[in-house]
Amino acid sequence: MDYQKEREEVAYFMRRLYDKNLTTCSGGNVSLKLDKDKICITPSGLDKGRIQPDQIGIMTLEGVNLTTELKPSIEAAMHIAVHRMRTEIKAVVHAHPVTASSFAASEKKIDTALIAESAFILGTPVMAEYAKQGSSELAQIVAAATARGNIVLMANHGVLTIGETLLKAFDRIEVLEASAKITLYTELLGNKRALSDSQFKELVSGSDPVKRDETKLIELIVREVLEKIVRMN
Ligand SMILES: [Zn+2]
Repeated sequence: MDYQKEREEVAYFMRRLYDKNLTTCSGGNVSLKLDKDKICITPSGLDKGRIQPDQIGIMTLEGVNLTTELKPSIEAAMHIAVHRMRTEIKAVVHAHPVTASSFAASEKKIDTALIAESAFILGTPVMAEYAKQGSSELAQIVAAATARGNIVLMANHGVLTIGETLLKAFDRIEVLEASAKITLYTELLGNKRALSDSQFKELVSGSDPVKRDETKLIELIVREVLEKIVRMN
């Protein structure tokens, strides 16, 4: 099997998302960059809790499915758009964890200044506007949001995190869900005491900086990829 190690990694982290209650058996998707123009990605329509390496598909960043026996994730275009936007990262994780997704369906924000780990790992998550799942509009909106941060809350949908490794992207989604729970619990407890602005800034400055490339014409890139995907289907 081509790219066995990478496909094993993707399958393992998909099962781990399910085991950790961060996704349902049908929701969520994970991708990992294989080289400068290919990714491997979880498929659509299979039980995510039992996913195996030979069920992980391979696609080019032009949107061509190189494993035609497998149906790519319905969010493949979103993953591709993100990989094209943030060329220095390797992994993209998307899921609908219950607590963080509740905040994505609320005007209230996840408070990442409540504990040091949240501040350090998450900084301030980026919000992405709502668009229909699987749509080209969603792919564009979310890719544009990743230009501003590594952690994206997708309105009325879920969350997406990216990282230099799958472990980093997974850590970010796990800490985000924990941070959402802590925000709720401290609200219930009352007498909430958050880090001061200077304590928060001191922690955030130690976390990974976001590499920005303002010159990227994301809309054009995404449109081009999506047109190719549509033509193939
Ligand atoms: Zn989703």
